[in-house]
Order: sequence, then C-alpha cells, then structure tokens
Amino acid sequence: MATVAFIGLGNMGGPMAANLVKAGMTVTVFDLNPAAVTALTDQGALSAKTACGAAAAADFVITMLPAGKHVRSLYLGDDDNKGLLDVVSKHALLIDCSTIDADSARLVGAKACEKGIEFMDAPVSGGTAGAAAGSLTFICGGSDSAYQQAQTVLTVMGGNIFHAGAVGAGQIAKICNNMLLSVLMVGTSESLQLGLDNGLDPKVLSDIMKVSSGGNWTLEKYNPCPDVMENVPSSKDYQGGFMVDLMVKDLGLSQEAAVASNSSTPMGSLARSLYVNHARQGNGRRDFSSIFEQFSKKK
Ligand code: NAD
Repeated sequence: MATVAFIGLGNMGGPMAANLVKAGMTVTVFDLNPAAVTALTDQGALSAKTACGAAAAADFVITMLPAGKHVRSLYLGDDDNKGLLDVVSKHALLIDCSTIDADSARLVGAKACEKGIEFMDAPVSGGTAGAAAGSLTFICGGSDSAYQQAQTVLTVMGGNIFHAGAVGAGQIAKICNNMLLSVLMVGTSESLQLGLDNGLDPKVLSDIMKVSSGGNWTLEKYNPCPDVMENVPSSKDYQGGFMVDLMVKDLGLSQEAAVASNSSTPMGSLARSLYVNHARQGNGRRDFSSIFEQFSKKK
C-alpha cells in the first residue's frame, strides 16, 4: 500500500487526508497548526515534526496550502530551511492541490524536474463537502506518467479527474472555470432581479430561463434568489457553499493570468470588482451567490 505525506490540513486538506487514511494508506501528516494534526492522528494518521520529516520517505507527497507563496517556500526552501525538493526520494510523486498562480506551479515544477523529481499541480473543485465525501474534481497539470501514477491517490479523494496539460495547466483550467462561474452568477442575479422588479415570480422566471437560451449551471443547480430552490445557500441565508473571499482570490488569479498572457477578460475583470466590493461590505464569509443582494432592493 502506498505511503503518503499530507501537508496542509485545513478545511480541505483535513478531510482529504482522512479519506486516504480510511482507504488503508499509511499517511504521515504535518500542519503548522497542531490541532489540525491531532484531528488526523485521532483518525489513524502518523505525524512528523516537520514537513520535510513527513515527506522524506513517502511515495506520494500531497500539499493543500493557502497560496503560491506558501507552496514556493515549502517546496523550494530558503537559505535557512530545506525545501521538500531537497529531501524527497527520486521516485516520489509530488502533487500540489492548492489553488495558486500558474507561475508558482511552473517554477516548482521546473525546479523538481532539474532534480529528476515529478511534480504535478492538481487544484480541486467541489469544496469542503466534496472533500469530505471523497467526490472532488481534480484538474491536473503534469506529465502523462505523473498523471497515471497519481490515480492511486486521487481516485480515493475524488470522482472526476482531468488531465488539462503540462505543469500549470491545472491552475489555468481551474481559474478559467471559476471566472466563467462568477460571470454566470452575476448575470443570473441581475436578470432575476430585473424580472422581480417588473412583477415576475422568480421561480417562474427561473423555470423559463433554465430551458431557454439563458439556461446555465447557476439556474439549474445553484439559484441565487432566496426560496426558488431548496437546499442551496440562497435559501439558507447564503451560509455554506463557496465563500466570497475564495471567489475573490480565484478572480484575482484569473486577472493576473490574463495580464501575463495579454488576454482580454472584461467580464472577469468586472466580476472581480463586483465581488471585491461585495466582500468589502462584510460578505466575505458568505456564499458567492449572495452577490444577488447587490442587485436586490433589500440591502
Ligand atoms: P485553510 O486555510 O483552511 O487550510 C490551509 C492549511 O495550511 C492551514 O491548516 C494552515 O495551517 C496550513 N499551512 C499553511 N502553511 C503551511 C506550511 N508551510 N506547512 C504546513 N501547513 C501549512 O484553507 P482551505 O480552505 O483548506 O484551502 C486550501 C486550498 O484549497 C487553497 O488554495 C484554496 O484556495 C483551495 N480551495 C479551497 C476550497 C474551499 O471551499 N475551502 C475549495 C477549492 C479550493
């Protein structure tokens, strides 16, 4: 059975690592937060004093960290500290599941390649519920062999696993998707409010648009108008789901990528401004469909 090092045991990494333990793998965990480590050792994981200690003997090293700077410093180290690339075995596969800028993923991938080590970016979609259920979508960037090798661990934590291209491609595919999602959510919100302002029942309007040319995922699965759909965040005061702060982060990454590739993304840029403004009004920890309230008269 594969030995796994799992580093970064937060809202996402904690339940992902727990699923590997449940599958019978030998999982050694590390996090800067001791309570997060204890939550995993209570479920049967081993722990190490440092990230390098956890990774040194592992077949797979999986990281789930907040941002690019954390990933760069953990893998590459600095003058005072060794990085993971200095200690892992040559046969190990390194998989970073964090959502970060593609340039950081490419930098770590290139440094790993110089040492003859395989690195893959594999950001996820599916949120904390998907992490707990083992039904995440993984969007991978790396070589064919890394992608094949990764199936051993990714299939335990996820349902859909895609190979988007070379290292960094996973990050790009993820931010393209989330930029489109934000645009759809904003457009759906303003359309529903226009209907409401003109006397329409939002449920009837949603049923019409869902099967018409404006139909999209937010209308089908995640209606932003309260009480149109059961069991979605809009019907639970926008609690649970995907936080506005995380959407702001992903839209920042998509705009950085657009600048780097000289791409024109006016809708993504506007969606980012709307979400930043929404977060600044105290909505950062609410679900991203709460952007609907920016258009409704009730504020
Ligand atoms: P989180 O803040 O809950 O967890 C991050 C963990 O990393 C923390 O426990 C922190 O202590 C740990 N950490 C930071 N630096 C470390 C280091 N050097 N060594 C060891 N541990 C370190 O974040 P999260 O919600 O679990 O998100 C993780 C990543 O997944 C982010 O990149 C996020 O954008 C992405 N993501 C999150 C969601 C979501 O719904 N939460 C969904 C999809 C993707």
